[in-house]
Amino acid sequence: MRDLVIIGSGPAGLSAAVYAKRAGLDMVIIEKNPVSGGQIIDTYEVDNYLGIPGVNGFDLAMKFREHADKLGAEFVDATVTGIDVVKEGSDTEAPIYKVKTDNGGIETRTVILATGAHHSKLGIPGEEEFIGKGVSYCATCDGAFYRGKVTAVNGGGDVAVEDAIFLARFASKVYLIHRRDELRAAKILQDELFGLDNVEVIWDSVVKEVKGEDKVNKLLIENVKTNEEKDLEVDGIFVAIGIRPSTDLFADIVECDEGGYVEALEDGATSKPGIFVAGDSRKKRLRQIVTAVADGANAVTSVQDFLVGKK
Ligand code: NAP
Repeated sequence: MRDLVIIGSGPAGLSAAVYAKRAGLDMVIIEKNPVSGGQIIDTYEVDNYLGIPGVNGFDLAMKFREHADKLGAEFVDATVTGIDVVKEGSDTEAPIYKVKTDNGGIETRTVILATGAHHSKLGIPGEEEFIGKGVSYCATCDGAFYRGKVTAVNGGGDVAVEDAIFLARFASKVYLIHRRDELRAAKILQDELFGLDNVEVIWDSVVKEVKGEDKVNKLLIENVKTNEEKDLEVDGIFVAIGIRPSTDLFADIVECDEGGYVEALEDGATSKPGIFVAGDSRKKRLRQIVTAVADGANAVTSVQDFLVGKK
């Protein structure tokens, strides 16, 4: 029986692991991916994490992981398939949960959900068909394939603009296609983007179809103000239209909002006693590394408070 199982090894989960080890909790952290770090491992530059301006996302993830390892955090490589309530708790007794994985179950008194979020898809014809053949969700992973080529990014947030800036280093031309006439991304990123000669923003437009033969060669785009449609010749498209919380597995045990984010106050307590949430999968205003890390610390503090006086 564990005191705590942390599900997910992004910044929130790793921060929780560090705090849990320092608090002397008998904990284990379950990670699905072979590399810890969650979404930041695909981020080429993180420029707003206090004290480390311009750090590479993968390098930062490795630092987080090393910190957890140094304190002796126990990692289990497995995919979680659900949580069973073995026994409900009381004022004097902790509940017992079984975190089920593809590699067996782990019984625990408390759980921190730190499963983060994943890339949203456009859901348009050709998108699925051309994944890996010109459709990508990760510019840092696939950008180098576009050296001297023409590519597009769809979206107007921080990720889309960062991707366009990154791709402009390799590609001969980058189209940034955005459905409105202003970007959502931080001003500092916009300023950098607008200073690049080989980036063209296509405003007020949506991608309706990804076309190609063996691989992508065109996008059907529509101007949403004029309804004019046209084919745009490209070698690839990077979809950066936001994220969805990875919470489907837990929707029957904890309350989630209409977007699938787990409902919780600042302490990370969910609607189910003993189950806490931290990071991008929870309902909150700002999803950043710094807030994920803070959530992890808060959730462990709540776990400690919850376990006081309980067997
Ligand atoms: P985001 O901020 O939610 O932006 C998503 C963008 O995609 C928006 O511009 C949105 O348009 C557009 N969009 C959504 N659905 C669409 C659809 N079906 N078709 C076309 N366009 C669509 O998501 P994100 O850029 O992935 O960022 C996720 C979070 O990570 C954000 O909180 C972001 O601030 C954070 N982040 C921060 C940094 C950093 O600080 N360095 C870096 C990366 C990410 P509208 O604008 O019209 O809604």
